[in-house]
Amino acid sequence: MATYKTDKCSFCGRPEKEVPLLLAGINGFICSDCAMQAYRIVQDNLGGKTSGPSNIFGLNDIPKPKQIKEYLDQYVIGQDDAKRYLAVSVYNHYKRLGQQKQNDGVEIEKSNVIMVGSTGTGKTLLARTIANLLEVPFTIVDATVFTEAGYVGEDVESILSRLLQVANYDVKAAERGIVFIDEIDKIARKSDNPSITRDVSGEGVQQGLLKLLEGAKVNVPPKGGRKHPDQDYIEVDTRNILFICGGAFDGIEKKIAQRLNTHVVGYNSVQNKQKIDSKNLMKYIVPQDLKSFGLIPEIIGRLPVLTYLNPLDRTALRNILTEPKNSLVKQQIKLFEMDGIKLIFEPEALEYIVDKAVEYKLGARGLRSIMEAVMIDAQYDAPSGKVKKFVVTEDYARKQIEKSHRLIA
Ligand code: ADP
Repeated sequence: MATYKTDKCSFCGRPEKEVPLLLAGINGFICSDCAMQAYRIVQDNLGGKTSGPSNIFGLNDIPKPKQIKEYLDQYVIGQDDAKRYLAVSVYNHYKRLGQQKQNDGVEIEKSNVIMVGSTGTGKTLLARTIANLLEVPFTIVDATVFTEAGYVGEDVESILSRLLQVANYDVKAAERGIVFIDEIDKIARKSDNPSITRDVSGEGVQQGLLKLLEGAKVNVPPKGGRKHPDQDYIEVDTRNILFICGGAFDGIEKKIAQRLNTHVVGYNSVQNKQKIDSKNLMKYIVPQDLKSFGLIPEIIGRLPVLTYLNPLDRTALRNILTEPKNSLVKQQIKLFEMDGIKLIFEPEALEYIVDKAVEYKLGARGLRSIMEAVMIDAQYDAPSGKVKKFVVTEDYARKQIEKSHRLIA
């Protein structure tokens, strides 16, 4: 049934124009805010007995791997291998959740993922986009903030505090969430040999993480930070939380090259010479290389899905500017459109922005700050001016960048 301007929510009485969404029933209406509130009340009273969002993951609800990849394609340029691996492991993960009630002895194991690739190539973007698609609680944590219990820093349990926060303390929802642990390479131990002295930032933290990755019932301080004896804890079972780890693993190509018995320049082994693409050794990565880098075997074992991201070349950067559904160019056009101004980027201006990103070695991460520097004056002036159309030429972009000293530093 369609709604009309005069319709009101039968619960809070607000008219349609004051609520995000008004749903019509046979004899009345409910707004989306009241519907959400009603859902929470039902959850509180009936807990797990409802079929609300915490329990929605029947296999039919989960997009198939191909659909997941197609969705990722709309937001993330390239990185096909990583997309396929992620799509399959997320799909299997939820298959596994669906399977748990059956008792046929075949237990599908958890499929935590590790993505290796330089900074700014899209690791976080991939994880975030997947979480958006699945509408599950999602949080990003940086492995570098954790330290072994007893040292200054956060306990690994605070990962779960954050997940609880984004899940509005709905423990069941949090227990099916996705956690992206960034910079996992920074907690590698410094050498391949187990250290005799304690290594605050490395192995101890890996041991702490292991418990979460394996699946355990963990007492979580609701507000994060350090554990405190007087605090109440919330018990979170991590068995069904999907962990996706990412890291740049700077220098791992050397380890890969050593293993492949070839040099980075690729002259050593005649047999391998034809086959190995020495410019992109990352694609040959295997778990053993992570061990050589300093991850403990137990952690590697708990991150069975290993994939890599390609470095972004010029063409990829150019595509990132315009192709994704919420690309930087589309965002700028929309911002101007809101002021009734038609914004046009000449292709040469975009090429110039890409040149600068390459020159400053900022990768995709740099595109944004370069775009901001180019557009700041226009964004400042245009809304109060009379122009109905604004064209960004290469010349304009260059002048703006030359003016902005911060970027050149
Ligand atoms: P990482 O986690 O690998 O360090 P991010 O995913 O945080 O990198 O990427 C930083 C920013 O660069 C993202 O917000 C996104 O705008 C852009 N970006 C990086 N890689 C891609 C890509 N492959 N496709 C589209 N945008 C990308």
